[in-house]
Order: sequence, then structure tokens, then C-alpha cells
Amino acid sequence: MNISVIGTGYVGLVTGTCFAELGNTVTCIDIDSEKISLLKRGVAPFYEPGLEELLKRNQQALRLSFTTSFGDISSSTIIFIAVGTPSRPNGDVDLSYVEKVAATIAMHLKQYAVIVNKSTVPVGTGDFVRAIIKKTYSGEFDVVSNPEFLREGSAIEDCLHPDRIVIGTTNHKALVLIQELYKPFNCPLVITNIKTAEIIKYASNAFLATSISFINQISQLCEEVGANVEEVAHGMKLDKRIGKQAFLRAGIGYGGSCFPKDVKGLLQSLKKHRCSLGILEAVETINYTQQQLFLQKINKLFPLLQDKKIAIWGLSFKPKTDDLRDAPSVTIIPALQQAGANIVAYDPVAMHNAKKIFKKVTYAKTATDALTGSDCLVILTDWDEFKQVDKRELKKRLTQPIIIDGRNIYDPEEMKKNGFTYVSIGR
Ligand code: NAD
Repeated sequence: MNISVIGTGYVGLVTGTCFAELGNTVTCIDIDSEKISLLKRGVAPFYEPGLEELLKRNQQALRLSFTTSFGDISSSTIIFIAVGTPSRPNGDVDLSYVEKVAATIAMHLKQYAVIVNKSTVPVGTGDFVRAIIKKTYSGEFDVVSNPEFLREGSAIEDCLHPDRIVIGTTNHKALVLIQELYKPFNCPLVITNIKTAEIIKYASNAFLATSISFINQISQLCEEVGANVEEVAHGMKLDKRIGKQAFLRAGIGYGGSCFPKDVKGLLQSLKKHRCSLGILEAVETINYTQQQLFLQKINKLFPLLQDKKIAIWGLSFKPKTDDLRDAPSVTIIPALQQAGANIVAYDPVAMHNAKKIFKKVTYAKTATDALTGSDCLVILTDWDEFKQVDKRELKKRLTQPIIIDGRNIYDPEEMKKNGFTYVSIGR
């Protein structure tokens, strides 16, 4: 099939590349000319394992091309919208990028096409996009919702082997085309109306965020009474109604480009439609509290942070990505600096993005380099390389063997035996 993908971010680029890998001819369009010129040279503009190899292979096979020009969409049967939908300061979803793209699509349509919303958008956006296109284009077209569930860090695998594909449309012609595109995929299809599809995406992300806040609340109780939250989560997950894959990971709270903004976005939809907010407001509050409690743990060990040197391991919101959007580091580092601490940070791939955000942070070449002469180590992201580190080396480099771990990557008993003051979450 001949398809276009508008927006070459984490979702658009990965989706476009995967559709090309499956034999489609894909044109990826972005207004960011720097990004497009990198992509034309086969360079991925962000870190995602396996992406660059797939990108180059499909470019060489002439199935994948990149442009800043919207002209090419006129020959596409399916046009994906995959631009950002960030939060506005009041929590509303900023639909201006989607709006702009819809208006631009309308100016370039010349024949029937299915416009597919892959961006995460509030319920009702399908109708909004249809109305915008109709203002300019009088020909036949359809709008479908097809939310994306890939996770940064495993985006290619998630995109090629999703748990499910959600298709929101009640139009037969559009459905046949989308089903044809997804024919090579071996997973359940959820075929429903547009509004239901839009809500499935928000409800899924809000539920995952709720699981994190839930276990974080339990972790607070575990700390008070001397229980172990990891073992509590393990015991819970063995109940089939909860499940082994349940997202019950206590830590420093959820972050990233999706959960915080999607919880806010769903709250705004609930408000707009005069529904009660209870649970999601609590999810946000617990998430905020969890980071404050983490800062308190550091303060308890260092009542005076002035001129203390703190090594930070991990800046991205999770491992295997260089994405810092709403990462815990973005809250924790400035708070420590505010209290007078000097920060030396290390992250395997996110330091180039961190340099655009943080002021007065020293960046170390390696994880162990960051420790040299530091008063303690603070772990904010659970990268595998941190888990495998030699504890003797750790002890040798730090001026005091103190670790405050926001991701529970080490065994507390082992750390105690090795002479560390080791503070983690809920145990
Ligand atoms: P992103 O910010 O990484 O990328 C968005 C891209 O759209 C940018 O390259 C930007 O230049 C481009 N763009 C903006 N306006 C444009 C225009 N008028 N024309 C062409 N291109 C334009 O965003 P993302 O992380 O890929 O997220 C995209 C959507 O997918 C969001 O709604 C997000 O919630 C959703 N989503 C994201 C993830 C994720 O893990 N990042 C997962 C599932 C769903």
C-alpha cells in the first residue's frame, strides 16, 4: 500500500519504518527540516534500539522516504497523523498540531483517502478532524482512530508484535483498507467506533499510571511497618485476576511523554463531560508525593546539601530511551541544586538531551567516573548497566558508601552486607 505518515517522532517514525518493513511504500513527512535531513541520510534523530538499521534497510529498498513537503500525500490511500499532543499549562490537551495537520491534509487531498489518527487524542477528536478537513475538501474521505501503544525502548518490537490493534471506525470502506494494512499482524483486532477507540488509549495509559501510583502508595505503608513492597507485588501478581505482567513497580513515580499528560488529558475529558474525577486525581497526587518523599529520603541522610557532590545515575524517564519528557530527573535534579548540591550525572544515551535542559550539571564519561569523590549515589533510571556494576568499585569511588535508589535495582540485604547505607523504595 502507498501510505503517508505525518510527524516523524517516536511514534510516526517507528510506525512508518515498520510499515515499510512489511512491504508498504511509506512517505514520512515532518515540518522539522533538520530532522528530515538527518533521516534522508539514514540517521535516526533519537535513540531507539534497532531503529537505524531498519531505517537504512527500507530506505535502500526504496520503500521509505522522507520529506517536508505535503504534496506526496495526494497519492496515499492511508494518511496517518502522528504529531505530538502535549499538555497545555492548564492540563488540556494541545490539539493545535493535529488541527494544523488536518487543515494541511485538506489542502492536498485529490482522491479518496483514509485519515488515521495515531496520535493520542481526547474523545471527540475524530469528529473535530473530520470537520476541519470538510471545510476545505469536498471530496470523499474517512477519518479513523487507530491509537498507538508502543513503548519507547522496545518500540520496534511493540510495533511489529502488538498485544492488540484498535481500529475505530463504523465505515466499511475505511475498515477494509485498514484491515488490509494490518493483515500481516498476528494479534487481536478491536474494531469499534471512533469514540470508543479514543477512550481505549486514554483508559489504558491511565490504568497503567494508576497501577504505579497504587503500588507506590502501598510502598509507603511497607516503609512504615518494615515490609517489602517487591514481595507484596510478587504475591499480588500470582493472582490470575491481577496477572504476572501487572504494572506494579514501586519507584520514584511515573514520568515520560505519555502517562503524565494522558492522565491530565483524561481528567480534562472527565471534567468536560461532568464525570467524577476521584481516582485519577489521587493517581496524580500520589505520583507527586512519591517524588517529594524521595527527596525527603535524601534530605534525611544529608540535612545540609550545600556543596555536597551528588552522583546521579540515569536521566531518561526509563531505560533504553533518550527521552527526558517529564522524567523524574527533571524534578529531582533542580530540587537538589536548589538546596546547594553539586550534580555530576551519567546516562548511557540521554546526556545530549539533558544538556538542553539542566544548568550547571557536570556530565561524566562513565557511570563509575560519576562516583569519584561524590558524597552519595542517587539512582533515577534502571538501566541494565547499573545493575551489573561491581559493588567494590562503587564503594571505592564514593567518599561515603551511600546509595539512594529510586528504582530498587539492588538487593537491600546484599548491600547491607557489603557495608552500604542503601535506601530504596518500600523495603
Ligand atoms: P514527538 O514529539 O516525538 O513527535 C512529533 C513530531 O511531529 C515531531 O517530529 C514534530 O516536528 C512533528 N510535527 C509537529 N507538527 C507537525 C506538522 N504540522 N506537520 C508535520 N509534522 C509535524 O511525539 P511522539 O512521542 O511520537 O508522540 C506522537 C503522538 O503519539 C502523541 O499523541 C503521543 O501521545 C502518542 N504516543 C506516543 C508514544 C511514545 O512512546 N512516545 C506512544 C504511544 C502514543
